[in-house]
Amino acid sequence: MNDRLRKVVVLGGGSAGWLVAALLAAEHPDLHITLIESGDVPIIGVGEGTWPSMRDTLRRIGLSETAFIRQCDVAFKQGSRFDGWAGGAAGEGEDRYYHPFMLPVGHDDADLVQAWMSTQSECSFADVVSPSVQVCEAGRAPKQAQTPEFGAVANYGYHFDAARFGQILREHACGQLGVHHVIDHMEGVRSSEVGDIAALQTRAHGEIEADLFVDCSGLASLLIGRHFGVPLKSERDVLFNDAALPVQVPYARIDGPLATCTIATAWAKGWIWDIGLPSRRGVGCVFSREHASEDEAQAALQAYLDASGAPAERPAPRLIHFDPGYRKQFWVRNCVAIGLSSGFIEPLEASALAMVELSVQRLCDELPMTRQSMDAVARRFNDDFSYRWARIIDFLKLHYALTRRDDSDYWRAHRDPTSWPERLRELLPMWQLRPPARHDFGRIDEVFPAVSYQYVLYGMGFRPKHQPLSDAKLGQAKSCFEEAAHLKRRLLTGLPGHRSLIDYIQKSA
Ligand SMILES: Cc1cc2nc3c(=O)[nH]c(=O)nc-3n(C[C@H](O)[C@H](O)[C@H](O)COP(=O)(O)OP(=O)(O)OC[C@H]3O[C@@H](n4cnc5c(N)ncnc54)[C@H](O)[C@@H]3O)c2cc1C
Repeated sequence: MNDRLRKVVVLGGGSAGWLVAALLAAEHPDLHITLIESGDVPIIGVGEGTWPSMRDTLRRIGLSETAFIRQCDVAFKQGSRFDGWAGGAAGEGEDRYYHPFMLPVGHDDADLVQAWMSTQSECSFADVVSPSVQVCEAGRAPKQAQTPEFGAVANYGYHFDAARFGQILREHACGQLGVHHVIDHMEGVRSSEVGDIAALQTRAHGEIEADLFVDCSGLASLLIGRHFGVPLKSERDVLFNDAALPVQVPYARIDGPLATCTIATAWAKGWIWDIGLPSRRGVGCVFSREHASEDEAQAALQAYLDASGAPAERPAPRLIHFDPGYRKQFWVRNCVAIGLSSGFIEPLEASALAMVELSVQRLCDELPMTRQSMDAVARRFNDDFSYRWARIIDFLKLHYALTRRDDSDYWRAHRDPTSWPERLRELLPMWQLRPPARHDFGRIDEVFPAVSYQYVLYGMGFRPKHQPLSDAKLGQAKSCFEEAAHLKRRLLTGLPGHRSLIDYIQKSA
């Protein structure tokens, strides 16, 4: 009971399972870690956009960034671009805004929002306060060839091939970090007298015992959902999307520009993501089955692909259904769920892998652990991650709630305040008087900081009441704008093209 936890079994070999196994093994080499993965159940194989936090995760695992870029068809992601969300004029450049990863210059020191309202409210907020919009529009890389691995000139995460990501993590975790890999189908669970999981029963390898079990079994949620019966807290009334049609499409020209942000384009009954990898694009149509048929979503996707110049010869998309929500508990007894088994809302803002990173980080930080200390750890984990899921829901809903689109019941239902989470209903009237601020978000490690809310609010056309600033405050903010403009000029001249940097990294010896 008071023995330190020694054996961990990770059930599932998707991105979540391998990230958990690799990071646990890298940070706690004394643990004996086994990853069980079914040969019969494929990984979900989507999830190709990350946050900047992935740089730190990969560095801590001990992966080389160069090897990762070469093996996983990696591109750099500097944020997201939203087309057609505010009013519906997709693709015309007018209804477009960015949520860049780069923080506004001087965001902690000056009242940027009121100064922007006073001096340049006809320009995009993100463009005035940060160089990122122009860097993305110009297709520049976020770093130079000589910038060290994982180092950034402009903040960045990644776009990558999800299947190859799993492979490189597996090779590294098994080859360098001592993780044991078992390819076998889990068929059952043996419980201890007190109700813990004692062992997983596999088809060919018999029982595999451990002290802690990490459920990374994907949407099937075999341990936390099926074995322990923890229900999903559905968020379907708030965020309606429950289906996606992903497809991988070739480029018309392989040496053409390579996007350095995720492009999210709204359509009448959902939205379409477009992720540029060096060798292909990953595109997918997200929709709500209550508001759109699969045929309508297919037609929207094909129209988007045609308009964006995809070659006519392309594979058929596959259909993925999901139930938007998260588990009422993530950690029960000696089992913690990480990845899709813990929940999934939708791909907007690519928060799923970031939640995996946060969860495994917490797990690493809580070690060493005994079975006796585990229940208290579990309670805190459940509280903190329920809070995080709720904040993700607030932030995702913000993208829809402020739309002026009126072309379908889907957007009208999103605009209806009765579909908004209570906290958003409380905060939006406050933000009419003043910008989102740090104290609106109670925790030091918030998933989305106040500036992310600012980028989306003002990108969507929301304007706070204008409160004139003193000359001193206005001057302070204006000097931040000048610094952002100066930085923009330096980055536009000093940074290489995105595709040429990726080509260089892929080919250099
Ligand atoms: C449409 C869509 C788009 C997304 N886009 C993004 C994005 O841009 N960014 C982002 O961060 N996230 C995104 N996600 C989420 C992301 O795909 C997942 O968080 C990520 O891939 C992790 O998945 P997973 O490892 O939890 O599950 P999976 O990849 O499904 O892996 C499940 C594993 O469990 C194993 N398994 C299942 N049953 C058994 C059994 N009986 N015995 C043994 N093993 C078993 C399987 O073999 C598999 O290895 C997206 C998700 C969807 C649906």
